[in-house]
Amino acid sequence: MSTPAIAVHAGAGTWRRDPEAVERVRRLVREALEAGMEVSRTGSSLDMVVEAVRVMEDSGVVNAGLGSTVDLSGSASMDAGVMYSKTGRAGAVAYVRYPRNPVLLARHVLESTDHVLLVGDAADRLAERLGLPRHPGPAERVRRAYEEAMERVRRGETPQRFYPRSLELWLRLFGLGDTVGAVAVDSEGELAAATSTGGVFLKMPGRVGDSPIVGAGFYASRCGAASATGIGEFIALFGLSRRVVDAVCASGDPAESARRVVGEFTRLFGADTLGVIVVDREGRAHGEYNTQAMPWGYSSGGVVRVLGI
Ligand code: ASP
Repeated sequence: MSTPAIAVHAGAGTWRRDPEAVERVRRLVREALEAGMEVSRTGSSLDMVVEAVRVMEDSGVVNAGLGSTVDLSGSASMDAGVMYSKTGRAGAVAYVRYPRNPVLLARHVLESTDHVLLVGDAADRLAERLGLPRHPGPAERVRRAYEEAMERVRRGETPQRFYPRSLELWLRLFGLGDTVGAVAVDSEGELAAATSTGGVFLKMPGRVGDSPIVGAGFYASRCGAASATGIGEFIALFGLSRRVVDAVCASGDPAESARRVVGEFTRLFGADTLGVIVVDREGRAHGEYNTQAMPWGYSSGGVVRVLGI
Protein backbone atom coordinates (compact mmCIF):
# COMPACT_ATOMS: atom_id res chain seq x y z
CA MET A 1 0.00 0.00 0.00
CA SER A 2 1.29 3.47 -0.92
CA THR A 3 0.01 6.85 0.21
CA PRO A 4 -1.61 8.58 -2.78
CA ALA A 5 0.08 11.77 -3.92
CA ILE A 6 -0.53 14.20 -6.75
CA ALA A 7 1.30 17.14 -8.31
CA VAL A 8 -0.11 19.55 -10.90
CA HIS A 9 1.25 22.44 -12.93
CA ALA A 10 -0.39 25.34 -14.74
CA GLY A 11 2.36 26.06 -17.24
CA ALA A 12 5.88 27.43 -17.24
CA GLY A 13 6.34 31.03 -18.26
CA THR A 14 6.18 34.52 -16.93
CA TRP A 15 3.24 36.27 -15.35
CA ARG A 16 1.67 39.66 -15.32
CA ARG A 17 2.43 41.39 -12.10
CA ASP A 18 -1.25 41.26 -11.44
CA PRO A 19 -1.94 39.98 -7.94
CA GLU A 20 -5.45 38.92 -8.96
CA ALA A 21 -4.14 36.73 -11.79
CA VAL A 22 -1.59 35.21 -9.46
CA GLU A 23 -4.27 34.54 -6.87
CA ARG A 24 -6.56 33.00 -9.52
CA VAL A 25 -3.94 30.54 -10.67
CA ARG A 26 -2.90 29.67 -7.11
CA ARG A 27 -6.56 28.93 -6.33
CA LEU A 28 -6.83 26.82 -9.46
CA VAL A 29 -3.74 24.75 -8.59
CA ARG A 30 -5.20 24.13 -5.14
CA GLU A 31 -8.61 23.16 -6.57
CA ALA A 32 -7.02 20.77 -9.04
CA LEU A 33 -4.96 19.15 -6.26
CA GLU A 34 -8.01 18.79 -4.05
CA ALA A 35 -10.07 17.33 -6.90
CA GLY A 36 -7.34 14.79 -7.63
CA MET A 37 -6.99 13.81 -3.98
CA GLU A 38 -10.76 13.48 -3.59
CA VAL A 39 -10.79 10.96 -6.43
CA SER A 40 -7.87 9.05 -4.86
CA ARG A 41 -10.15 7.75 -2.11
CA THR A 42 -11.76 5.29 -4.50
CA GLY A 43 -9.93 5.82 -7.78
CA SER A 44 -6.62 5.12 -9.45
CA SER A 45 -3.78 7.49 -10.32
CA LEU A 46 -5.28 7.62 -13.82
CA ASP A 47 -8.57 8.88 -12.33
CA MET A 48 -6.62 11.40 -10.23
CA VAL A 49 -4.65 13.00 -13.06
CA VAL A 50 -7.62 13.07 -15.44
CA GLU A 51 -9.83 14.74 -12.83
CA ALA A 52 -7.17 17.32 -11.87
CA VAL A 53 -6.59 18.22 -15.53
CA ARG A 54 -10.34 18.30 -16.26
CA VAL A 55 -10.80 20.86 -13.47
CA MET A 56 -8.08 23.05 -14.98
CA GLU A 57 -9.48 22.65 -18.53
CA ASP A 58 -12.89 23.78 -17.25
CA SER A 59 -11.52 26.82 -15.40
CA GLY A 60 -11.00 29.01 -18.47
CA VAL A 61 -8.08 30.53 -16.53
CA VAL A 62 -5.32 28.55 -18.25
CA ASN A 63 -4.36 27.60 -21.79
CA ALA A 64 -6.23 24.30 -21.98
CA GLY A 65 -9.85 23.31 -22.56
CA LEU A 66 -12.09 26.38 -22.23
CA GLY A 67 -9.14 28.79 -21.90
CA SER A 68 -7.25 27.46 -24.95
CA THR A 69 -5.31 29.93 -27.01
CA VAL A 70 -5.69 30.48 -30.75
CA ASP A 71 -3.55 30.05 -33.84
CA LEU A 72 -2.68 32.60 -36.52
CA SER A 73 -6.12 32.20 -38.06
CA GLY A 74 -7.82 32.91 -34.71
CA SER A 75 -9.10 29.39 -34.06
CA ALA A 76 -8.35 27.05 -31.17
CA SER A 77 -7.01 23.52 -31.54
CA MET A 78 -6.01 21.43 -28.56
CA ASP A 79 -3.67 18.56 -27.66
CA ALA A 80 -3.75 16.20 -24.66
CA GLY A 81 -2.18 12.95 -23.51
CA VAL A 82 -2.38 10.49 -20.60
CA MET A 83 -0.32 7.49 -19.52
CA TYR A 84 -0.87 4.86 -16.82
CA SER A 85 1.81 2.57 -15.42
CA LYS A 86 -0.59 -0.26 -14.52
CA THR A 87 -1.34 -1.02 -18.15
CA GLY A 88 1.78 0.61 -19.58
CA ARG A 89 -0.50 2.30 -22.08
CA ALA A 90 -0.83 5.86 -23.30
CA GLY A 91 -3.64 7.70 -25.08
CA ALA A 92 -3.50 11.09 -26.74
CA VAL A 93 -5.35 13.42 -29.06
CA ALA A 94 -3.94 16.22 -31.17
CA TYR A 95 -5.35 19.09 -33.13
CA VAL A 96 -8.86 18.60 -31.77
CA ARG A 97 -11.48 21.33 -31.72
CA TYR A 98 -14.66 19.60 -30.62
CA PRO A 99 -14.14 18.46 -27.02
CA ARG A 100 -14.34 20.84 -24.13
CA ASN A 101 -12.10 18.37 -22.27
CA PRO A 102 -9.44 16.87 -24.55
CA VAL A 103 -8.09 14.91 -21.57
CA LEU A 104 -11.31 12.85 -21.46
CA LEU A 105 -10.92 11.97 -25.12
CA ALA A 106 -7.26 11.06 -24.58
CA ARG A 107 -8.33 8.75 -21.78
CA HIS A 108 -10.80 7.12 -24.12
CA VAL A 109 -8.00 6.48 -26.63
CA LEU A 110 -5.95 4.88 -23.84
CA GLU A 111 -8.71 2.67 -22.46
CA SER A 112 -10.91 1.79 -25.42
CA THR A 113 -8.78 1.75 -28.56
CA ASP A 114 -5.70 -0.07 -29.83
CA HIS A 115 -4.01 3.24 -30.62
CA VAL A 116 -1.89 5.82 -28.87
CA LEU A 117 -2.70 9.01 -30.80
CA LEU A 118 -5.78 10.17 -32.73
CA VAL A 119 -5.82 13.53 -34.48
CA GLY A 120 -7.94 16.19 -36.11
CA ASP A 121 -11.44 15.79 -37.54
CA ALA A 122 -11.62 12.05 -36.96
CA ALA A 123 -10.81 12.49 -33.28
CA ASP A 124 -13.39 15.28 -33.09
CA ARG A 125 -16.03 13.02 -34.63
CA LEU A 126 -15.20 10.37 -32.04
CA ALA A 127 -15.65 12.92 -29.24
CA GLU A 128 -19.02 13.89 -30.67
CA ARG A 129 -20.15 10.26 -30.98
CA LEU A 130 -19.07 9.60 -27.41
CA GLY A 131 -21.28 12.48 -26.30
CA LEU A 132 -18.42 14.42 -24.73
CA PRO A 133 -19.25 18.07 -23.94
CA ARG A 134 -18.59 20.42 -26.84
CA HIS A 135 -16.06 23.25 -26.74
CA PRO A 136 -17.81 26.61 -27.16
CA GLY A 137 -14.90 28.20 -29.07
CA PRO A 138 -12.23 30.64 -27.92
CA ALA A 139 -12.98 32.51 -24.70
CA GLU A 140 -13.68 36.22 -24.87
CA ARG A 141 -10.34 37.14 -23.27
CA VAL A 142 -8.51 34.96 -25.83
CA ARG A 143 -10.39 36.61 -28.70
CA ARG A 144 -9.51 40.04 -27.33
CA ALA A 145 -5.84 39.09 -27.00
CA TYR A 146 -5.88 37.81 -30.57
CA GLU A 147 -7.30 41.08 -31.90
CA GLU A 148 -4.76 43.05 -29.90
CA ALA A 149 -1.90 40.85 -31.10
CA MET A 150 -2.98 41.17 -34.72
CA GLU A 151 -3.10 44.92 -34.31
CA ARG A 152 0.47 44.89 -32.96
CA VAL A 153 1.63 42.64 -35.76
CA ARG A 154 0.05 45.05 -38.27
CA ARG A 155 1.99 47.88 -36.63
CA GLY A 156 5.20 45.88 -37.14
CA GLU A 157 5.77 44.92 -33.50
CA THR A 158 6.92 41.36 -33.96
CA PRO A 159 9.16 40.02 -31.22
CA GLN A 160 11.52 37.48 -32.73
CA ARG A 161 12.25 34.55 -30.55
CA PHE A 162 11.22 30.91 -30.48
CA TYR A 163 7.95 31.50 -32.20
CA PRO A 164 8.51 34.68 -34.11
CA ARG A 165 5.49 36.83 -33.48
CA SER A 166 3.99 34.43 -31.00
CA LEU A 167 5.28 33.21 -27.67
CA GLU A 168 6.81 36.39 -26.35
CA LEU A 169 3.85 38.33 -27.58
CA TRP A 170 1.59 35.90 -25.78
CA LEU A 171 3.54 36.29 -22.58
CA ARG A 172 3.52 40.06 -22.83
CA LEU A 173 -0.17 40.23 -23.53
CA PHE A 174 -1.39 37.43 -21.38
CA GLY A 175 1.17 36.69 -18.71
CA LEU A 176 -0.31 33.73 -16.98
CA GLY A 177 -2.40 31.20 -18.79
CA ASP A 178 -0.60 28.12 -19.88
CA THR A 179 -0.55 24.41 -20.50
CA VAL A 180 -1.64 22.19 -17.61
CA GLY A 181 -0.55 18.81 -16.35
CA ALA A 182 -0.81 16.36 -13.48
CA VAL A 183 1.19 13.39 -12.18
CA ALA A 184 0.04 11.02 -9.45
CA VAL A 185 0.69 7.80 -7.57
CA ASP A 186 -2.20 5.81 -6.10
CA SER A 187 -2.58 3.46 -3.15
CA GLU A 188 -1.42 0.53 -5.31
CA GLY A 189 1.80 2.38 -6.18
CA GLU A 190 0.71 2.81 -9.82
CA LEU A 191 1.65 6.06 -11.55
CA ALA A 192 -0.08 8.24 -14.12
CA ALA A 193 0.63 11.44 -16.03
CA ALA A 194 -1.62 13.79 -18.01
CA THR A 195 -0.98 16.98 -20.00
CA SER A 196 -3.41 19.25 -21.85
CA THR A 197 -2.89 22.42 -23.87
CA GLY A 198 -4.22 24.82 -26.43
CA GLY A 199 -0.64 24.98 -27.75
CA VAL A 200 1.16 28.20 -28.45
CA PHE A 201 -0.42 31.56 -29.22
CA LEU A 202 -0.32 32.43 -32.92
CA LYS A 203 1.04 29.02 -33.87
CA MET A 204 0.71 28.01 -37.49
CA PRO A 205 -2.60 26.30 -38.17
CA GLY A 206 -1.88 22.58 -38.09
CA ARG A 207 0.92 22.83 -35.53
CA VAL A 208 1.03 20.15 -32.82
CA GLY A 209 3.44 20.48 -29.89
CA ASP A 210 4.90 18.06 -27.35
CA SER A 211 1.86 17.73 -25.10
CA PRO A 212 0.23 14.77 -26.94
CA ILE A 213 3.57 13.09 -27.72
CA VAL A 214 4.25 10.20 -25.35
CA GLY A 215 7.69 10.55 -23.78
CA ALA A 216 7.83 14.26 -24.63
CA GLY A 217 4.87 16.06 -23.01
CA PHE A 218 4.03 13.25 -20.59
CA TYR A 219 5.27 9.85 -19.45
CA ALA A 220 4.60 7.33 -16.68
CA SER A 221 6.35 4.11 -15.72
CA ARG A 222 6.53 2.06 -12.51
CA CYS A 223 9.32 4.39 -11.24
CA GLY A 224 7.79 7.79 -11.84
CA ALA A 225 5.53 10.06 -13.87
CA ALA A 226 6.27 13.41 -15.51
CA SER A 227 4.34 16.19 -17.27
CA ALA A 228 6.09 18.92 -19.25
CA THR A 229 5.37 22.49 -20.29
CA GLY A 230 7.33 24.95 -22.40
CA ILE A 231 8.49 25.22 -25.99
CA GLY A 232 6.88 22.13 -27.49
CA GLU A 233 9.28 21.68 -30.39
CA PHE A 234 12.31 21.58 -28.07
CA ILE A 235 10.58 19.27 -25.60
CA ALA A 236 9.63 16.88 -28.41
CA LEU A 237 13.15 16.88 -29.87
CA PHE A 238 14.60 16.14 -26.46
CA GLY A 239 12.01 13.56 -25.33
CA LEU A 240 11.85 15.33 -22.02
CA SER A 241 9.29 13.49 -19.88
CA ARG A 242 10.75 10.09 -20.65
CA ARG A 243 14.24 11.31 -19.82
CA VAL A 244 13.08 12.62 -16.47
CA VAL A 245 11.26 9.38 -15.60
CA ASP A 246 14.20 7.23 -16.75
CA ALA A 247 16.49 9.37 -14.57
CA VAL A 248 14.20 8.72 -11.59
CA CYS A 249 14.41 4.97 -12.33
CA ALA A 250 18.20 5.19 -12.39
CA SER A 251 18.80 7.48 -9.39
CA GLY A 252 15.69 7.04 -7.24
CA ASP A 253 15.63 10.79 -6.60
CA PRO A 254 12.91 12.80 -8.40
CA ALA A 255 14.19 16.26 -7.45
CA GLU A 256 17.78 15.55 -8.41
CA SER A 257 16.66 13.84 -11.64
CA ALA A 258 14.46 16.75 -12.70
CA ARG A 259 17.20 19.27 -11.90
CA ARG A 260 19.81 17.38 -13.88
CA VAL A 261 17.62 16.80 -16.94
CA VAL A 262 16.32 20.39 -16.96
CA GLY A 263 19.97 21.51 -16.71
CA GLU A 264 20.89 19.48 -19.81
CA PHE A 265 17.84 20.83 -21.63
CA THR A 266 18.73 24.42 -20.72
CA ARG A 267 22.30 23.97 -21.95
CA LEU A 268 20.92 22.82 -25.31
CA PHE A 269 17.96 25.13 -25.79
CA GLY A 270 18.53 28.07 -23.47
CA ALA A 271 16.62 29.52 -20.52
CA ASP A 272 12.91 30.40 -20.52
CA THR A 273 12.04 27.25 -22.42
CA LEU A 274 10.74 24.63 -20.02
CA GLY A 275 9.07 23.34 -16.89
CA VAL A 276 8.33 19.83 -15.62
CA ILE A 277 6.66 18.15 -12.66
CA VAL A 278 7.56 14.66 -11.50
CA VAL A 279 6.39 12.21 -8.85
CA ASP A 280 7.86 8.86 -7.87
CA ARG A 281 6.36 5.66 -6.45
CA GLU A 282 6.92 6.91 -2.89
CA GLY A 283 4.90 10.05 -3.61
CA ARG A 284 7.90 12.39 -3.61
CA ALA A 285 7.04 15.24 -6.00
CA HIS A 286 9.15 17.98 -7.55
CA GLY A 287 8.63 20.88 -9.97
CA GLU A 288 11.60 22.22 -11.92
CA TYR A 289 11.59 25.08 -14.45
CA ASN A 290 13.96 27.45 -16.20
CA THR A 291 11.32 30.16 -16.64
CA GLN A 292 10.38 33.01 -14.36
CA ALA A 293 7.52 31.02 -12.86
CA MET A 294 5.63 27.76 -13.03
CA PRO A 295 2.56 27.60 -10.83
CA TRP A 296 2.58 24.06 -9.46
CA GLY A 297 1.71 22.23 -6.32
CA TYR A 298 1.46 18.85 -4.66
CA SER A 299 -0.76 17.12 -2.20
CA SER A 300 -0.38 14.00 -0.11
CA GLY A 301 -1.52 12.82 3.31
CA GLY A 302 -3.66 15.91 3.99
CA VAL A 303 -0.92 18.38 2.99
CA VAL A 304 -1.60 20.77 0.08
CA ARG A 305 1.23 23.05 -1.14
CA VAL A 306 1.13 25.61 -3.94
CA LEU A 307 4.52 26.73 -5.23
CA GLY A 308 6.32 28.24 -8.20
CA ILE A 309 4.60 31.61 -8.24
N1 ASP B 1 4.25 22.72 -24.48
C1 ASP B 1 3.10 23.40 -25.03
C2 ASP B 1 3.18 23.35 -26.54
O1 ASP B 1 4.26 23.58 -27.07
C3 ASP B 1 2.98 24.81 -24.62
C4 ASP B 1 3.21 25.13 -23.18
O2 ASP B 1 3.57 24.28 -22.39
O3 ASP B 1 3.00 26.27 -22.80
O4 ASP B 1 2.16 23.16 -27.17
